[in-house]
Amino acid sequence: MAYDFVQNRQCEYFPCHQGLPADSFSCLFCYCPLYALGENCGGSFRYTADGIKDCSNCLRPHRRENYAAICEKMKDIIEMAKKQPDKK
Ligand code: SF4
Repeated sequence: MAYDFVQNRQCEYFPCHQGLPADSFSCLFCYCPLYALGENCGGSFRYTADGIKDCSNCLRPHRRENYAAICEKMKDIIEMAKKQPDKK
């Protein structure tokens, strides 16, 4: 696929996470779309003492081979964003 990998080496933060060779570091999911899933994103997050989700050590969205898995997980985001029935 030609659309499963993007890099922006002009970004002042590239690569924003350590642990992958620069040539295979994907920027496609910069600002991970799964963040809103909280503990159910499937990534390697931690919570700070203030309760903030910290993704500093997660490479999941930056691995090209995870493209399909991230897209699959977007179904959960779509479900979250559905119009909620009026509460009584
Ligand atoms: S970067 Fe990793 S830990 Fe953070 S939301 Fe995405 S998958 Fe989850």
